[in-house]
Amino acid sequence: MTRHFDVGVIGGGPAGYVAAIRCAQLGMNTACVDQWRDPRGQSVLGGTCLNSGCIPSKALLESSEIYEEARNSCAMHGVICGDVKLDLKAMMDRKNRVVATLTQGIAGLFKAHKVTWVTGHARLLPRNHVEVHESGGEAKGQLIESENIILAPGSVSVEIGAAPLHEGLIVDSTGALEFSEVPERLGIIGAGVIGLELGSVWRRLGSQVVLLEAQPEFLTITDTQIAGEALRQFTAQGMDIRMEARVLGCRIIENKVEVSYQDHGGDHRETVDKLIVAVGRRPNTRDLFVPETELLLDEWGVIHVDEHCRTNIPGVYAIGDVVRGPMLAHKGSEEGVMVAERIAGQQTSINYDTVPSVIYTLPEIAWVGKSEQALRAAGVNCRVGVFPFAASGRALALGNTAGMVKIIADAATDRILGMHMIGPHCSELIAQAVIAMQLSASSEDLAMTMFAHPTLSEALHEAALAVDGRPIHIARTRRR
Ligand code: NAD
Repeated sequence: MTRHFDVGVIGGGPAGYVAAIRCAQLGMNTACVDQWRDPRGQSVLGGTCLNSGCIPSKALLESSEIYEEARNSCAMHGVICGDVKLDLKAMMDRKNRVVATLTQGIAGLFKAHKVTWVTGHARLLPRNHVEVHESGGEAKGQLIESENIILAPGSVSVEIGAAPLHEGLIVDSTGALEFSEVPERLGIIGAGVIGLELGSVWRRLGSQVVLLEAQPEFLTITDTQIAGEALRQFTAQGMDIRMEARVLGCRIIENKVEVSYQDHGGDHRETVDKLIVAVGRRPNTRDLFVPETELLLDEWGVIHVDEHCRTNIPGVYAIGDVVRGPMLAHKGSEEGVMVAERIAGQQTSINYDTVPSVIYTLPEIAWVGKSEQALRAAGVNCRVGVFPFAASGRALALGNTAGMVKIIADAATDRILGMHMIGPHCSELIAQAVIAMQLSASSEDLAMTMFAHPTLSEALHEAALAVDGRPIHIARTRRR
């Protein structure tokens, strides 16, 4: 039996489920196929972000921060907590409840919008057909035919030959959210976004964390000045970050992992209780389509699309982690909305210059637009304003003064080209930067804007003033 829809979406993560809901809002008969099952074997929506990525990691980041604050910072505020204890099982149960609430919420939204949720593994066939197998097996599955198909299968962790996953000892980011006890010594391969976020969780809960990073420079995706501050902060917190470390292999010895690696100092061995492999993610395009569809991909499995997420096959779109650009949930969701609206005949497009990025460590790191080093390398003449949180009254009251806000503006037009920050609540502050850039603001526009006092947001105001050499609350200035 073939079922007919106006739109078939493959993947129910933040890209796919948002696309499906928006299609339904626009009056299209929509199906969304997803193969994800939770640990109890139940089909769930939400993909990596909700089930084993953004949401569970943020739940644990929040809980572990409370634990660390209770142990270390509360006394500074005159709050004496006494003997603070960790109940890891309760922490994990809470994380699982947060996940379940949200995944059930999406199922509820599908119901309310009359999106048909199909469970199983979907494969694109020629002539806009999709075949769905309950278990991905060879048996003939059910067929879906739809005028438009949106591919949103997400991404999976990259595995490396030097550290193959091993029964709860060598794990990927999913396994690292499920430890039943705090590892005494935790190794992490890759000091990227996932390595730093998960490293922060387990360090706060008591692990000694060693990060082995292949690159010579730390966090090359961010502005160099922000990355430098981040490295200082994380090192001061006790994270042992070893750069230019080339992992050669792993051995399991008495339920521990011995990692061999090489750096400038020679060959080394490090024994850890658990090892997390966090060396990036790759598009989940294996077994997504049959060869006869002639879908175009690059050698990394990234589906070729134009700026409106159209693939080379008419009526077939691809969004989220399987296409160019950063692997970020919000970028995928916006692509889902754009594609739904374009299918409905609207002219929606996305401003890829204003995609925000956040690393949810403490201090938080966030940015939008270009870094100073990228602009200088491209020969752009720019002016830079920096304001440290150490000079912010609100940050001092908070007891959290590490970090800064940095604004980079075009020297000729004063248009803001990038905003970068590290410090308290930067994951929220960055939205102001995105709005400013989305509205093509100049640094003077921000300088002329009134900010409430005392707030952390004033750091943006002061950084904008600093672009022109006239910040009020720092002394070192070239006043005009
Ligand atoms: P990443 O690219 O951020 O970091 C991977 C790191 O591993 C890099 O620094 C890389 O140099 C290093 N590396 C690669 N191979 C190595 C090796 N053999 N030995 C040592 N180091 C090695 O990737 P990630 O942290 O795995 O995250 C994957 C994706 O998920 C990213 O696109 C990220 O943006 C996204 N993500 C985002 C968030 C967020 O927005 N807060 C959170 C988690 C994941």
